[in-house]
Amino acid sequence: MDTLAIKGGTPVRTNKIGYGHQWIDEDDIEAVAEVLRSETVTCGPFVTAAEKALTDYTGAKYAVAVSNGTAALHCAIMAAGIGEGDEVITTPLTFAASANCALYCGARPVFADVDKETYNIDPDSIEVHITPRTKAVVAVDFTGQPVLADRIRQICDKHNLIFIEDAAHSIGTFYNGKAVGNIADMTTFSFHPVKTVTCGEGGAILTNNKEFYDKLVLAHTHGITKNPELMENPSPEGPWVYEQISLGFNYRLTDIQSGLLVSQMKKLNAFKARRQEIVRKYNEAFKDMDEIFIQKEVPGADSCRHLYIIRINKEKLNCTRREFFDALAAEGICCQVHYIPVYYFPYYKSLGYEKGLCPVAEEIYEGIMSIPLFPKMSDSDVDDVIKAIGKVAEYYRK
Ligand SMILES: *Cc1c(COP(=O)(O)O)cnc(C)c1O
Repeated sequence: MDTLAIKGGTPVRTNKIGYGHQWIDEDDIEAVAEVLRSETVTCGPFVTAAEKALTDYTGAKYAVAVSNGTAALHCAIMAAGIGEGDEVITTPLTFAASANCALYCGARPVFADVDKETYNIDPDSIEVHITPRTKAVVAVDFTGQPVLADRIRQICDKHNLIFIEDAAHSIGTFYNGKAVGNIADMTTFSFHPVKTVTCGEGGAILTNNKEFYDKLVLAHTHGITKNPELMENPSPEGPWVYEQISLGFNYRLTDIQSGLLVSQMKKLNAFKARRQEIVRKYNEAFKDMDEIFIQKEVPGADSCRHLYIIRINKEKLNCTRREFFDALAAEGICCQVHYIPVYYFPYYKSLGYEKGLCPVAEEIYEGIMSIPLFPKMSDSDVDDVIKAIGKVAEYYRK
């Protein structure tokens, strides 16, 4: 048996590899330079082109580009008309923004538990948590695998709830033949550099509903409009007149970022193909390795995975998650943990949330780590990850 690097052995690799990384080519750089040579740096045609790239890809009717994925969630909650006293059901296994968006509007996030095999929000648990105050579900496509949208749709229709899909992980994913972005009432994307396509910082909300669309547009630009259909006085005294008809924010995406987003969207299918290839290799390598669990694939899904998560099997290993994680880092494989359950954070504790709310999510959290998954990985990078995990698992095998 090989001595682990953390015990003084030779590491699998010396140049460390992280869990995610963007892919920027010369044509992306050229696309940004083109914007800078043009007449506009914000509020111009590149923003419109970015929104069109998103509706073209997904088949959704409307897209509003915004400054980041958190702003996208905030706008969706505002467009849903959610406020003081309302409840929004979401998952604890997510980035804090999925829950924070409800708090921004004075509503209370309510955490439903997750499925123990896919780690996505469990529709049965959503139903258990519905009260007369519930107004929406923010369902997260965790790691890029789609939530069970048919079931969630039924539940939302039955209880008159708005279905918001936090698709920060899942651009490029299809569920039962339909693109994520064209499934829920509103779908939010993030274009942060660790996500599948990036424009530095950026986000978008997609919808097929004109009423939501109008509200999203207002929410991301101060509640100000020049649209005569929305104005109180549609024949104003001069061309300078605009009206503020609601309270919004400045969450606009710039043309500079939009130029990069348009360029990146052209590569989405190539990124997806490579991510899927790596996921297949990992699945193949780990399927018979009893020391770790891997996520079960969601039936009916063609997933563009953002993360690949392994979970240690305590029955088969003589180590903690921390020891496994540190041993991998010493081998040159730097993992991350997605995610600490949101309600563990001190801020949520101060709002009265306590451990124990979602036992399945809590148990999953104890054993998980995200291993490298990004399209720029070479085959030998992938082999190194597999080799290092095999080496650590063998060393700590019971
Ligand atoms: C990244 C992420 C967000 C927030 O996106 P930003 O663009 O970083 O604001 C929201 N939800 C999930 C699940 C995310 O992973």
